[in-house]
Amino acid sequence: MLRADFHTHTTFCDGRNTPREMAQAAYQKGFTDFGISGHADFSFCDPGFGMGDEAFEEYKQELRRLREAYAGRMNLYIGVELDCLGPVQEADYAIGSTHCVLKNGEYVCVDDTEERLSEAVMRLWGGDWYAFVRDYFETEARVFERTHCDWIGHFDLLTKFNGRGRYFDEKSDDYLEPALSAMRRLNREGLPFEMNTGAISRGYRDEPYLSGILLKELNLMGGRIMINSDSHGRENIGYGFDRALKAAWESGFRRVCALAPGGGFRELDILDLG
Ligand SMILES: [Zn+2]
Ligand SMILES: [Zn+2]
Repeated sequence: MLRADFHTHTTFCDGRNTPREMAQAAYQKGFTDFGISGHADFSFCDPGFGMGDEAFEEYKQELRRLREAYAGRMNLYIGVELDCLGPVQEADYAIGSTHCVLKNGEYVCVDDTEERLSEAVMRLWGGDWYAFVRDYFETEARVFERTHCDWIGHFDLLTKFNGRGRYFDEKSDDYLEPALSAMRRLNREGLPFEMNTGAISRGYRDEPYLSGILLKELNLMGGRIMINSDSHGRENIGYGFDRALKAAWESGFRRVCALAPGGGFRELDILDLG
């Protein structure tokens, strides 16, 4: 079992449980390493969403108290989920995520609701989903230079509402070319990519982010992965990790990354986790 999870949310942003409740649940599940990664200030796109500077300081104080409380029992990490287009707030680690695209002066959230996204693609891209796909990945390709994140969160989040290829074909060159070009650029920075099981636990997808095709391509590029739940409630910590490990193995990966207590990453052998 993989008993480490570094992408989780609490009541400091849009999660349902407090940091204390989340840490307790992780510890009870036998986790050795647990990271909390609240949403950075996202008010540029969605007023009131994410943590403003004051809330962010309180959040880090609370997490430092918890890290002390769990010292010697579970490694607790203080993180932040930054948005590619948002402000950079400093924590011990940062996930670089792309939740929105800027088009004609308007921020379009790709994971808000299906209705809002399809309406925006109609209005701003004339219904051309592949033009939207290109703009998304061109934005995401710059997430490292903008945020100096430690890894890439849910790389293909824009597929959240695209079940069974409803809006675009994820196997077509029109989709894959911009996706792989962004992936190559980010992989050159040496950043791990996250396999994110959050959309499975929330019922939007039946595989983790980084679809099977992208996962295989990342492996061919010599890329690295880590597995995270993006849980917004304590019941989803570590959700679907067995499935993600299996998908990683089938795509050719033999190791997954995890944060190390002293900073940086360590690599865990998938066979040892089996
Ligand atoms: Zn996210
Ligand atoms: Zn998240």
